[in-house]
Amino acid sequence: MENCLFCKIINKEIDSSIVYETDNVLVFKDINPKAPVHFLMVPKKHVKSIMEIEELGYDTIKEMMDMVVKIAKNYELSKDGFRIVTNTGIGAGQSVEHLHFHIMGKRKFGWPPG
Ligand code: 5GP
Ligand code: ZN
Repeated sequence: MENCLFCKIINKEIDSSIVYETDNVLVFKDINPKAPVHFLMVPKKHVKSIMEIEELGYDTIKEMMDMVVKIAKNYELSKDGFRIVTNTGIGAGQSVEHLHFHIMGKRKFGWPPG
């Protein structure tokens, strides 16, 4: 998708620090981390938000959920707790209109989120 920041990162037109890459999914470090571990997981197919997730198909959706578990294990996030966040829409603070999951860990998180 033209003029989509995350599509440009996926296409390597913009540099990022890549954590995992498969044919369908990219995980890279957030440029402005809000936790010691703060990754962004995106489907390579451009989908605006979770409201359009059906467009991805079951295999990619499952792959992303499995990827969360793999990352939690590899970065030892689950013992102290970690958080997955998908801001959806302006009111929730979604600033990039390409579906992304924040995967955050290695600090204490408050509830409810702001
Ligand atoms: P949102 O606000 O949409 O939930 O999350 C967008 C995230 O993308 C933010 O946490 C922001 O720091 C991150 N971000 C914005 N621009 C870039 C960039 O150019 N590279 C990387 N790696 N992350 C970015
Ligand atoms: Zn995109």
